[in-house]
Amino acid sequence: MFYSNEIVETVRQANPITDVVGQYIQLKNNKGLCPFHDDKKPSFSVHPHKGIAKCFACMPHAIDVFGFVMLMEKVSFPEAVKILADRSGIDLPDFSEEDRQALEKQKKRERILEEAVLFCHNQLMSVLKLENGKEAV
Ligand SMILES: [Zn+2]
Repeated sequence: MFYSNEIVETVRQANPITDVVGQYIQLKNNKGLCPFHDDKKPSFSVHPHKGIAKCFACMPHAIDVFGFVMLMEKVSFPEAVKILADRSGIDLPDFSEEDRQALEKQKKRERILEEAVLFCHNQLMSVLKLENGKEAV
């Protein structure tokens, strides 16, 4: 499953991180008990303007709203997008046959390009080998 950046950003904007996090844990002044470790004091903070959240105790990096749902629901990125799209009433485009074919075509083009590059590389290598051979003589 694959969603365009445009769709992902639309879903992100429709789901403010404070709202989404607030569904799972109680936030006070954008801080709350971390749901990902046994938290005694509020280590989990949300930065609504940046659209990120971070636990100072158990997270080396901040996460965005999708990352939060992925951790919370133990799902993959596309599933997190789907959950948040459903939550905010956004219809995600299904992969149409056309999209699928376009994607296949693109993959094929990339493969052809790779082969072409490899072919040139091999040609060049054999030319170099020849020249090296000449020098040796
Ligand atoms: Zn934590």
